[in-house]
Amino acid sequence: MRILVCNDDGYFSPGIAALAEAMRGFGEVTVVAPEADRSGASNSLTLDRPLYVRKASSGFFYVNGTPTDCVHVAVTGFLDLRPDLVVSGINNGQNVAEDTLYSGTVAAAMEGFLLGIPAVAFSLADRGFDHLDTAVHVAQRVVSGLLRRPFADNKLLNVNIPSVALGDLAGFTVCRLGRRHVSQPVVRVASPRGEPMFWVGAPGGIRDAGPGTDFYALANRQVSITPLRVDLADAEGLGSVTQWLDDLR
Ligand code: MN
Repeated sequence: MRILVCNDDGYFSPGIAALAEAMRGFGEVTVVAPEADRSGASNSLTLDRPLYVRKASSGFFYVNGTPTDCVHVAVTGFLDLRPDLVVSGINNGQNVAEDTLYSGTVAAAMEGFLLGIPAVAFSLADRGFDHLDTAVHVAQRVVSGLLRRPFADNKLLNVNIPSVALGDLAGFTVCRLGRRHVSQPVVRVASPRGEPMFWVGAPGGIRDAGPGTDFYALANRQVSITPLRVDLADAEGLGSVTQWLDDLR
């Protein structure tokens, strides 16, 4: 069993160190992660320059690229042997609802999935890693479950862990994604030379946190597990757009 570990917070993050350590009992672990914090990188690939893979004193490999670059380079070129599982995280903060579209943590797992490898993204709610041990326990439970009962078809799982002590955890639940309101606007700041600059603002507030959502699970101290798909096509929209096109004629 070979496990590739990646993240988007960078190879120096306590979250990836904990995840790598948690995976050692399951097999041979290789860490390939971005050299900088690339949170929010989504599925971006670096196409305008070559990428290096260097080894840190921790034994972790780091890449001057995105989370997607890391998994792509590792699986298709750098590693001698193909991993059997890709795990990403443990992210510093939750990745729920529309966060999943921007998340580099999810993207790293998704890249493994796109390359035909089962993949899981792990994120710990509430930034700051207060309950990293809880997340480690959850990651081990999920991975041991995958080994014991693998899915017939590959799955991409998005797992969020509430930031609570292990004894306060209220179990695991399979969830749909919640919904956020539109993002907060950018914040305009002046550069020292007076030119306008912009900080990207906060994510939108909660719009749908009803029962069955990842938001709801976390609020109720439950681990959320959401299987994700890559196909963005709007199956329900096919009919109305077909009708619209017919009406134009
Ligand atoms: Mn991150």
